[in-house]
Amino acid sequence: MPQVVRSPKPYDVCIIGSGAGGGTAAKILTEGGLNVVMLEAGPPLNPEKDYKEHLWPYDLPHRGIGVGGKLRREINDEFTAPNGAWEIDGEPYTSAPGSRFRWFRSRIVGGRTNHWGRIALRFAPIDFKSRSTDGMGDDWPITYDELAPYYDKVESYIGVFGTKENIPSAPDGIFMPPPPARCTETVVKKACDKLNVLCIPSRMAIITKPLNGRAACHYCGQCDRGCLTASNFSSSQVMIPPAQATGRLTLIPNAMAREIVVGKDGKAHAVSYIDKTTRIEKRVNAKAFVVAASACESARLLLNSKSALFPDGLANSSGAVGRYLTDSVGTSGGGYFPQLEKMPPHNHDGVGGMHMYIPWWKFDRKNDFLRGYHIEMYGGRGMPGVGEFDGVCEEFEGYGLTLKHTCRSMYGTYIGLEGRGEMIPNPQSYCDIDPVTVDQWGIPVLRFHWQWSDNEIKMAKDMQETFRSIVEAAGGIYTTKASPDAPRPYGIADGGVIIHELGTARMGVNPKTSVLNKYCQAHDVRNLFVADAAPFVTNADKNPTLTIMALSWRTSDYLLDQAKKGNL
Ligand SMILES: Cc1cc2nc3c(=O)[nH]c(=O)nc-3n(C[C@H](O)[C@H](O)[C@H](O)COP(=O)(O)OP(=O)(O)OC[C@H]3O[C@@H](n4cnc5c(N)ncnc54)[C@H](O)[C@@H]3O)c2cc1C
Ligand code: SF4
Repeated sequence: MPQVVRSPKPYDVCIIGSGAGGGTAAKILTEGGLNVVMLEAGPPLNPEKDYKEHLWPYDLPHRGIGVGGKLRREINDEFTAPNGAWEIDGEPYTSAPGSRFRWFRSRIVGGRTNHWGRIALRFAPIDFKSRSTDGMGDDWPITYDELAPYYDKVESYIGVFGTKENIPSAPDGIFMPPPPARCTETVVKKACDKLNVLCIPSRMAIITKPLNGRAACHYCGQCDRGCLTASNFSSSQVMIPPAQATGRLTLIPNAMAREIVVGKDGKAHAVSYIDKTTRIEKRVNAKAFVVAASACESARLLLNSKSALFPDGLANSSGAVGRYLTDSVGTSGGGYFPQLEKMPPHNHDGVGGMHMYIPWWKFDRKNDFLRGYHIEMYGGRGMPGVGEFDGVCEEFEGYGLTLKHTCRSMYGTYIGLEGRGEMIPNPQSYCDIDPVTVDQWGIPVLRFHWQWSDNEIKMAKDMQETFRSIVEAAGGIYTTKASPDAPRPYGIADGGVIIHELGTARMGVNPKTSVLNKYCQAHDVRNLFVADAAPFVTNADKNPTLTIMALSWRTSDYLLDQAKKGNL
């Protein structure tokens, strides 16, 4: 049995993971006076070296698309912020027979907040009470009003642009001024107005005015590469630095947590982790633990932390760890607007993402499906990305000057629409520990089970019909062919592909059916908290990260209070 190296220093709190949830907890807990150790499975981030915000294709070894072009059309090409990928060498996951699930993970300080799209939407009051509304799924143990002050805190601190609209399905927040709509977005907005579909300025965690020493966005449009001026939000640039400035954060990078160790008293005492640089197993002790490794990694860690007291995994007396896994319902469509051909060149610069979006607008009527969706949009004439003209070359014959002319006249005439809808948890969608496969450190890996229900398929159908009607109302030609046939009816994305996986250690009032109480504290283990998307009870149509941060801030305030009272 190899020796485990034990850290002599006991910390107040150990946080596992440095992404949206872990970073927020680190800031609040250290500023609140606690000594915190943070274990992060990835290396440190150096934005100056690691972010490729202003590089040209010829600056990169494969012009950005990887060896043999294998990253062409992937979301993680050589330009994008580092260490985020669908597959990580030596760290596999599996899917059960008949299940299709993809898992995008980041291994770097800041986690996937280095890669995310920065769309920052609040859940609506109804999203916390959906079972009371339609009888499906469950209600959260907290209301919108209980979380709203924390949305305020997060938005004020990180900076989110948007406009106040007073739409019930998309609550307003504390916003910076948004950038103006681009040409293609104006075309879509006009079509939406004709169809009575809401279309409003988007809400993104990008600052349009200086904030806390961060410069305002300079509209280079390259947010997915990471932002050297920290004008968009990443945990690595916005949450971790103030925590470090307190002098109370010990950040241990390349530390892969393997197991949370419990004592005879039923409390968590330590975390065993693999030091990835030496492959030696080490252990840190703390009085409380905040698991924020991302929803599925957190479930994996809890399920792998078996003991005599918790034979089915830590804090899992309910059997709910890994269950209730959901992702957003996603399908995409695209259209082409002939009226934009030969448009005189003009400036479409802006943030690295949409300036307008379509919030859920059919909340006041009966639909063919329960819950709702929003629509994101992409297009216009920003800086051409890697593989931008592949589609043109596939569609039009020619080479040389003729092809160049075609590219020029077609560029900026397409618009992409992406639906993001609510999935209701079902018993067939969950993750558990694969009985056979282990990663390169011998840690058992996750196995995903996945099934969409009819409700989600109907929602994807509605999305496709809406995309078509918007494009056609705008005088465009809808080019997507999404058939109702399996395996992906109406183009519905496989589980995990929208990268909004959550619910694997959900909150609830009943310890028999939930893992955490209303403060994201484990029902079974008083000094154990979860601070990522695992506690979510519903996967509303909103992208989850703003809510992860608001919940983590609230959990951290509660933890501080408990620490002061000596209750940990
Ligand atoms: C391309 C892309 C676009 C996205 N766009 C949006 C968007 O527009 N809006 C939105 O709301 N969300 C978006 N998301 C999702 C968003 O990134 C996540 O919801 C968010 O980052 C989750 O935060 P987290 O703290 O739960 O986990 P993460 O950010 O994934 O961080 C988890 C961290 O924990 C570490 N870790 C994992 N396991 C261990 C372990 N065993 N020991 C130690 N450390 C560990 C990881 O290395 C990682 O750094 C997007 C994601 C991607 C990839
Ligand atoms: S568009 Fe703005 S926020 Fe995004 S990378 Fe460029 S400067 Fe940064």
